[in-house]
Amino acid sequence: MNNAVWIASISIYLILLIASILGITHRLKEYGGLRKIFSYISMADSNTWNRFLVEVVLQGRFFRWGGEPAIEGVFRGVALYSYMLIMVLSLLYAILLLLEGGSILRSINTLIAVIGAVALVSGVVILVNMRPREGKRSWLIELGGRDLAYLAVIPILGGVALSSLYYREAIALALAISPIIILLTPHTRFWYNIASALNVFINKQRNPGKLPTPFKLSELSEETIDKIKVGVGFLTDIEPERLVNLDSCANCGLCDSVCPAYAVGRPLSPRKVVLVTRQGVRMDPGKQVVDLLQDDTFWACTTCGACVEICPMGVDHVPLIVDVRRWLVFNSKMDQKKISLISSIAQSGNSMGAPNYGRHDWIRKLGVQLAEETGDYDYLLWVGCMGSFDDRARKAIQAFIEVLKEAGIRVAVLGDLEMCCGDPLRRLGEESRFQDIALRNIDLFKRLGVKRIVTICPHGFNTFKNEYKELDPTFDVEILHHSQLLSKLVEEGRIKPKSKISGTATMHDSCYIARINRIEEEPRRIIRISSETYKEARRSGYRTFCCGAGGSNYWYDVPEKKRISVERVEELASLGVNTIVAECPFCIAMLEDALRNLGLDKDIKVRDLSEILREAGA
Ligand code: SF4
Ligand code: SF4
Repeated sequence: MNNAVWIASISIYLILLIASILGITHRLKEYGGLRKIFSYISMADSNTWNRFLVEVVLQGRFFRWGGEPAIEGVFRGVALYSYMLIMVLSLLYAILLLLEGGSILRSINTLIAVIGAVALVSGVVILVNMRPREGKRSWLIELGGRDLAYLAVIPILGGVALSSLYYREAIALALAISPIIILLTPHTRFWYNIASALNVFINKQRNPGKLPTPFKLSELSEETIDKIKVGVGFLTDIEPERLVNLDSCANCGLCDSVCPAYAVGRPLSPRKVVLVTRQGVRMDPGKQVVDLLQDDTFWACTTCGACVEICPMGVDHVPLIVDVRRWLVFNSKMDQKKISLISSIAQSGNSMGAPNYGRHDWIRKLGVQLAEETGDYDYLLWVGCMGSFDDRARKAIQAFIEVLKEAGIRVAVLGDLEMCCGDPLRRLGEESRFQDIALRNIDLFKRLGVKRIVTICPHGFNTFKNEYKELDPTFDVEILHHSQLLSKLVEEGRIKPKSKISGTATMHDSCYIARINRIEEEPRRIIRISSETYKEARRSGYRTFCCGAGGSNYWYDVPEKKRISVERVEELASLGVNTIVAECPFCIAMLEDALRNLGLDKDIKVRDLSEILREAGA
């Protein structure tokens, strides 16, 4: 073939590539322009580069949840890299040919053809497997013409590259058409490939247990207090950095597939929250977020974090949802139940609407001393609002105290000095009151010289462990969840059950323990030594399914077709178990309520970790 064809092919390639770069640069203006983006990249530390390598280059986020996303990730990665290899190798081939590169050309030709076959197969598998189907999740919903053209290029390019085995001129064609994908990227939804790569540099990885702090109450003065901006109300409140995060969404629907609110027909699809918001930023910038999505969309979230965990593109739904709540709370757009929760904590210091006076009198009758009266204890037991007031939760607390006593561990409690930990306020969106109560708790711990806290409540545990230190960097207290302490005592041989509870048990992991704080093995260690037979649920460990109480949902109602707790109990009951082991007083309440609703409460019991140890004679 005439050299002119190869030169023409390289020229088209370069023209398309330059046009692609111009298109991408133009779109990056929405994020503040190239200079700003380069400054983020140039400031990246080694952790960020590692994250880029693992999550973007190696597509590692697809493997975090395993199963379906991992399989999709493999096909996506194979298609993407085979496309890029064809693009590079065909250029190399053309240049070497013009330079009369000799025998190596044959090897490169074979390589291009083999990679072409891989691109063809993976491109077709993606199109067939991820097409919209009745009742199935699909990556390929809501596609425009340009999106389809983009998707079609990979298998077409693969086919052309493969045919170079018989007609080496096909490489010239492959070379010329290969930049079309990059050219189309800024004009299709596949822009997420660029946005999700930038997202790694622009949005630092968030500790899932810690919500972003919009202001520090302790640093506000009378002049600045009126100027603080709370939450996201208008679409113009979405900053470029957050837009990058939202643009990272690939519309794969994985977040919907694990969202408890979505599963029970609440008016929340985390995928739609992302898509509608990012579209609103461009189409309706003058509107409020709640003009496009109803208030209950945001109240329906339990902040369980499953969407964030599974998202292969690093979209962080929860801070956006909480930011809209912050705006709703700031503008008093709440129903009576939410207002009552805030007033109850403000007036009584607890979330249960009871007088705080005498909240631990019943614990004192068990022989537990007050921390302000004695320094002679190993752990401060943070009882929590539920554990202090709710009759069922009190039984779990009592079992915990008894097991600790047997193991020779001394605890003290705060009595009337204990207030809410603040988690319900923060997750509801009442940031000022959260910080106020958190700072008061920190002062109290300092005044009493508290060094170690153990709690049965995952929400208190999480906020103490992950959120308090940002408010006061001198806060230095060891925080343990009771599953951790019990597990440690089992390991040390200080807890030794004399028997095993009969029947089959399963574990209901708390979102804030197993997923958000990655405490998965500890409760299982306890169950192994105290129950006869154990069955693992499909949604277990960090992939657990919420009980429905988190994110302050325990205190208010949201329209739904079914209770989240019922959906969960149906799954656990289908294992044929007699005991559901829980590690949270809220989970216990929700699951027992669901068992009663389903008429299963006679056959299946819910037990806290401490209770199964007690029943097994520990
Ligand atoms: S937010 Fe993430 S998980 Fe949800 S649809 Fe978008 S890419 Fe998929
Ligand atoms: S945090 Fe949980 S409830 Fe909220 S949107 Fe994500 S998956 Fe749904």
